[in-house]
Amino acid sequence: MLVYPLKPRGRLTAARTVVADFLLVFFLVAPFLKIGGNPLLLFDIANRQFFIFGFEFRPQDFYLLVLGVITLFVFIILFTAVFGRLFCGWVCPQTVLLEMLFRKVEFFFEGSGPRQRRFNNAPLTAGKLFRKTLKHASFILLALLIANTLPAYVIGGRRMLEYVSGPPTAHFSLFIFTLILSGAIYGTYARFREQVCTLVCPYGRLQSVLLDNNSIVVAYDFKRGEPRRKLGVTDEPAAHGDCIDCSACVLACPTGIDIRNGTQLECVNCTACIDVCNSVMDRTGRPRKLIRYASFAGITQGTTWRFTLRAGLYTVVLLVLLTVITLLAAGRSVVETTVLHTTGPLYQEVEGNIRNLYLVKVLNKTHDAAEVTLRLQSPEGELRVVGPALAPAGRGSAESVFYIDLPKARLFSSSIIVKIDVLIAGEVVETVQTTFSSPQVR
Ligand code: SF4
Ligand code: SF4
Repeated sequence: MLVYPLKPRGRLTAARTVVADFLLVFFLVAPFLKIGGNPLLLFDIANRQFFIFGFEFRPQDFYLLVLGVITLFVFIILFTAVFGRLFCGWVCPQTVLLEMLFRKVEFFFEGSGPRQRRFNNAPLTAGKLFRKTLKHASFILLALLIANTLPAYVIGGRRMLEYVSGPPTAHFSLFIFTLILSGAIYGTYARFREQVCTLVCPYGRLQSVLLDNNSIVVAYDFKRGEPRRKLGVTDEPAAHGDCIDCSACVLACPTGIDIRNGTQLECVNCTACIDVCNSVMDRTGRPRKLIRYASFAGITQGTTWRFTLRAGLYTVVLLVLLTVITLLAAGRSVVETTVLHTTGPLYQEVEGNIRNLYLVKVLNKTHDAAEVTLRLQSPEGELRVVGPALAPAGRGSAESVFYIDLPKARLFSSSIIVKIDVLIAGEVVETVQTTFSSPQVR
């Protein structure tokens, strides 16, 4: 069933428009932005490089990604328990694109909800065909723009620009992919629309378990509004509430629900009903906020918002996770060193020592060239690089060969752990461990 919502107007809609405009611009320019020489956001799966707000994450940092995802889930649970679906109404890409882009195009060509309904039910004329064509052409252009921006987050903004400005045959698979994606986006915003929120989105389904009576949601103050009464009905004023049963809140709702029936899974907290009801209250001389952000407990008991035990526990878990992630991220080395035994004999005897030969590879994660040295931390012995100097270029790598000599007389096992410090400009940036092989224990 097609929903024809009224064009929303009001303070909250204006504030949401500012937020949405910022997010839309950010979405379009983010693949081209850099921080400290690193892409702001890049998820380069082919080269296994990921940048989140300029911080680089490699496959070796996978544990950070897992922790980050867990933290995000806890944050969503906490946020939803306290603020309900604020995310859906203000920053969810689906709502932003539908309500702030595609719906606005539709309002422009076909007018607000009731006009749209009449326009759709009217017989097909040249004028109607013209306006419908313009609307759908605009939808297709927007879908193409979005579909051509999304891959830029995977291959980089500049490369995507090169691909888009080149012939489609040069990057045929990407071309086909963006065409299919454009079709899916067009179909979603031209027809499927709010059903993404009501039928597909798992977050919406979770609301029933995440919300409690203290969660802030878009809510109708039934204590103040009921019993509702149509304007002009001349009964005792004290016997009825502030709701004049004008149905403006229902007509404004993009998911087609009546918020006066209580919190519903279909409500995406878009605030359209708040704005329209406020304007009705203004016109009838009653106080605003008959529909507002409020908790069930706040409406029934008149209490102000409280930080519940559940929200407190979520907050503690969230803070612990954030602290762990910050410490782990801050402690990451600027290089990544791999040490392997060379092929051939495991050890040699050299002048009373046992010698093991190793291959070393140093990956430089910074943009600056580095002079890397190695030092044996434990046990006591000698480490000497016998291959080329370890001098990886910025974001490059270098390989070499080194040996470790340990006095045979002090070896107590056929395999012991040795620790090697990796230094740049005299500072230890990483410590790696490997095994040292020697003859059988005496
Ligand atoms: S817009 Fe306000 S007054 Fe009108 S029906 Fe909805 S709640 Fe009642
Ligand atoms: S009930 Fe109000 S806040 Fe919820 S989706 Fe409908 S208009 Fe938006």
